[in-house]
Order: sequence, then C-alpha cells, then structure tokens
Amino acid sequence: TEACLAAIEGAGALNAFVHKTPEIALERARAADARLQSGDAPKMCGLPIGIKDLFCTRGVPSQAASRILEGFKPEYESTVSQQLADAGAVMLGKLNMDEFAMGSSNETSCYGNAVNPWRRGNEDTPLTPGGSSGGSAAAVAADLCLAATGTDTGGSIRQPAAFTGITGIKPTYGRCSRWGIVAFASSLDQAGPMTKDVRDAAIMLEAMCGHDPKDSTSADLAVPDFEAMLTGDIRGKKIGIPREYRMDGMPAEIEKLWTDGAAMLKEAGAQIVDISLPHTKYALPTYYVIAPAEASSNLARYDGVRYGHRAKLAKGDGITEMYEKTRAEGFGHEVQRRVMVGTYVLSAGFYDAYYNRARKVRTLIKKDFEDVFAAGIDAILTPATPSAAFGLGEMTDADPVQMYLNDVFTVTVNLAGLPGVAVPAGLDQQGLPLGLQLIGRPWEEGDLLNTAYALE
Ligand code: GLN
Repeated sequence: TEACLAAIEGAGALNAFVHKTPEIALERARAADARLQSGDAPKMCGLPIGIKDLFCTRGVPSQAASRILEGFKPEYESTVSQQLADAGAVMLGKLNMDEFAMGSSNETSCYGNAVNPWRRGNEDTPLTPGGSSGGSAAAVAADLCLAATGTDTGGSIRQPAAFTGITGIKPTYGRCSRWGIVAFASSLDQAGPMTKDVRDAAIMLEAMCGHDPKDSTSADLAVPDFEAMLTGDIRGKKIGIPREYRMDGMPAEIEKLWTDGAAMLKEAGAQIVDISLPHTKYALPTYYVIAPAEASSNLARYDGVRYGHRAKLAKGDGITEMYEKTRAEGFGHEVQRRVMVGTYVLSAGFYDAYYNRARKVRTLIKKDFEDVFAAGIDAILTPATPSAAFGLGEMTDADPVQMYLNDVFTVTVNLAGLPGVAVPAGLDQQGLPLGLQLIGRPWEEGDLLNTAYALE
C-alpha cells in the first residue's frame, strides 16, 4: 500500500487518481496485516486497489467525474466496493473516468483526461487510456495499484483494458449489484474488475459478484470460485468467429491479431467455427438510442436540490431557472448531448419510431447470440477495438459519431446482457497494445475466463 501511494504521488501527470484516500488506505492496510497474521485472511486481503469515481464510497467524494456532483460525499457505500473491502482489498482512492461514464477517451471528465502510460514508438504524443474507465486502466497499466474497479455500459471496461494492455471483464448483467453505482443506462450498466491478468480478474470478480436484495436486477445465483476454474484446458470447446465483425476497412493488424488469436485457441485444442450474428450492424444505432434514453431519465435527478452543485441564482429566478442554470453549468457537452438525444427519442411523437424500435432490435441482437449458443458455440472471439489507442484531442467534439464507432465490437455484449472479457493480445507496429474480446454464455464467466486464460 505504501509503495502504491508513493507511485501515485509520482504519477500525477497520468491524472488517473482524482481523489486520493491515503488515510483510509493505511488504516485498511494495517487491519489487513492483522488479519493476515491471525491466519484468517480473505483472498484479497491487503491488496491495494483503485475505485472508479462512479462508485459511491462513504465519506469520500464520489462525483462520477461531473461538476454537477461537486462536493457530494455519499453517506453510503456501493455494494461492490463494500464487498471488496470485506474481501480485504485496500482502497487507495477514486479513479478518473468520462463524465457519468459517457465517452470512450476519458476526455469528458470534469477533471481533465487521464493519460495512457503507453507511447507510440518514440513519439511523445499523449494517448488516451480509453474510456470511460480510463483512470482505472491507466492506474493498473502504470502499476499505481494492483487492480481497479470499472463499469461497462457499452465497452467501458473492455475498450480501456485493450488500449492499455490489461485484462477487463464485464460480467453477465445481474452478476454484480448496481446498488450505489451512479446510474448511466440501468439496463446495460455492469461493474467488473480491471486487472493485470486473467487470474487476478477471476479472484477480483468473485469478490465483486453476488446477490443483493437492494438491486432488483441482481441475480440470486451462487458465485463459483472462478480462480479454481482456470485449468487452461479448452479442448473440444467451440469458438465462434462472427463474420459480421469483419468490418470494411478493418486495419490489417487488427485482422491479423484476430486470426492469430483464433490460431492460438485452435492450438490449445478448441474448434474454430464461422458463425453469423446477422443483426450486428444495428448494434451501434440501437445502443445510441437506448443508452441516452435511459441516461436522460436517470440524470433527471440532478436538479440542484438533492445533490452537489447548484448554480448562483439572480434575483427573481424561480425553480425553472434554478434547474436550467444548474444543469447547463453542471453537465458537460457530451452529457448534455445524451440528455437531449434521450429526451427526444422518448418524447411522445417519436417514442415508437426510435425508442420502441430500438428495444425491438435489441431483442433481435440478443436472439442472434442465443441462436449461436444453442447451436453449441461456447464462446465468440472478436477484436476488442477497431484500433489501438488514439491521440488525445484527435477525435473532436465536432463529430461524436467518430468517437461512437470505437464501441462497434463491445456494445452488442451489453445489449444482450452477456459476459465479455478483453485480454491483451500483442502490440501493433508502433508498439501499442491491442486486445481481443471473448464473449461467453450468460452466467458462465468462469468458463469464459478459462478460455481467456488460454490466450494469455
Ligand atoms: N463509449 C460508450 C459510451 O459513451 C461507453 C459507455 C460505457 O460503457 N460506460 O456510451
């Protein structure tokens, strides 16, 4: 813990930690020492970790990287961060992210972006660590902590993991409690671990999962010992390669990464099968209707009364002006865009044309996966991202769709509620990490991690 705290002090330029909690960390580390000595130590006892700023942590600023939550210190602890503390993990502080987890580059954060510790060749250009869990990814990749929590609504664990050469898993929807995690799109949001390797992911995921009566979508299922399932034996497993993911203009090195990954799994005894997920091309537009719709509803609670920031009011201003000024000042551009898109697609005249249609297409996307799993496929292999980490400032606010295209391989998994893991799979020509994604059957994270283990 002390070594990590020192590393964090020395890595201010990465802007990964936005609130440091050294007192809490040292106190928990001492308690962990005592537990270790007593011989009654849980699996994560004494392991220093970072917590994404989207998780409410008791008495510690929890702002979801938004100005609108300025000064908000929750009086409660999210279920997942509580479970990690119960498992002995030591919180070092809160990690940078895109505002309300909306973004793919960490550039929408009110704290300014986190920076990827990796560089292109011998260039100095600072690169994005990805988003929204960019601070988590940068912190783990730069050894500021042993692991971190992330959340994934449309790729926010897997894309930053791929951009920084670490491992990240989004479990099945319902595996981890969403209680105490600031809501973005409630039917898509899931927490998950971001770690240095698959074994760490298995250990941390076990601590994060479990039924929680405080989240009505939390699954009442036993949590297996995921680590014990890492045998490395994948003989006879059927791995699907979805042809619709072979996008036009896919860079040759991503194509090669994918082929090499399939070859590695084949070498380990798996059978590689071509499959079709015919509704894939509708995934991005479907996601960018459903996620903003749910976000616009979830974010209605930030009214200047109940939490955080309230704008200064002029004489004669009433409640409407208070809402308008507070929300105009408190929300950044991307969040405002999502609220506008979301309220538009939910509005009386457009509800059927956009929101309802997106819900129907979502069902078709889910069915594509059900069909291939019913046909005996155990896991699906795809690239995690369409490129390696890009330069900060390279994608601009002027063209949000360019940024949204980053999520092309990841959003289907959230729409279908499936588990998906990103594992590092080599470097591109400029020496930047690239990741592969494996998608598994619902509730079979253990099996999925074991397949990912074979790719390590
Ligand atoms: N890039 C996606 C978005 O902006 C990722 C969101 C997420 O997974 N939190 O919506």
